[in-house]
Amino acid sequence: MGRGSKRIAAFVMTAHPAPLCEVKVDAVWRTFSLNEAQLHFRDAIKRCPACHGRVTILGTYGLQPRLALSHRRSHDGCPSNTRHYRGVQSRHPQPVD
Ligand SMILES: [Zn+2]
Repeated sequence: MGRGSKRIAAFVMTAHPAPLCEVKVDAVWRTFSLNEAQLHFRDAIKRCPACHGRVTILGTYGLQPRLALSHRRSHDGCPSNTRHYRGVQSRHPQPVD
């Protein structure tokens, strides 16, 4: 067990899994945590892994920084869009490919 293993364990034990988003890197969609995407790919095109709609990352910074996915165009068939989700998952009407 190296010195880094404690941090990984703490991350895995987090009650809610870190939200993910897809970032277009060299013409290929890759999945990152919102933290990584915001840190390394701030200006890249991002999409929702669930519905493929275009998203931006909203962040609040303070003692407990929080990042959240925000769909550019709201879509009621996306489970990650908890406020508008109708219960049936469907592809975004304007998906990013
Ligand atoms: Zn979505």
